[in-house]
Amino acid sequence: MDKEKLETLIKNFKLRNIEVSYFDTLKDAKAEILRIIPADCTIGIGHSSTLQEMNISEVLLERGNIVYDKELGKNKEECKSLKKKALITDWYITGSNAISMDGRIVNVDHSGNRVAAISFGPDNVIIVVGINKVVDSLDEAIKRVKNIASPLNAKRAGYNPPCVTLNRCVDCVSKERVCNSLSIIEGQSNPNRIKLFVVKDNYGF
Ligand code: SF4
Repeated sequence: MDKEKLETLIKNFKLRNIEVSYFDTLKDAKAEILRIIPADCTIGIGHSSTLQEMNISEVLLERGNIVYDKELGKNKEECKSLKKKALITDWYITGSNAISMDGRIVNVDHSGNRVAAISFGPDNVIIVVGINKVVDSLDEAIKRVKNIASPLNAKRAGYNPPCVTLNRCVDCVSKERVCNSLSIIEGQSNPNRIKLFVVKDNYGF
């Protein structure tokens, strides 16, 4: 991302009370997460392959944070319980399916836990994205989440809606539908509740 584009992105999110930080590496973003979150805080994790690549839950647990990450659940009930507990933590860390240059954060969810937490959950939210998630407009962001993120997420999670084979959304009503909640964060009333960490490389989908 060139300097001018980055400055535009930062400015447009700032107008919506969302702070953007730019990192050269995922390692740098991880170090910043560990620096700003106190070791005695509770933390919810929204599933994200970018965060998994960071191994963030394990590192936070090792240093003493209480972490609610559905990936740590041993069965369906435990996973559901972890998702609910993550909604009322001190901090929430997750990824995103798309962000637009004009300052919107767009996500789709299967069960809705992540979009609920981002909208009205913890008082502090960190969203980590690679530059592959940055698109020009809201329209492009929605196209991205439906035609790129959803099929890949469905495949990863073992679901088989039509987009998995077609590689595009056909607005299905399949029982295997993975995009049951579509969320557009257009701004924040609380300045800097959401911190957006943009990393200079491609991560996740
Ligand atoms: S509506 Fe169906 S086809 Fe479209 S992205 Fe969602 S699951 Fe895939």
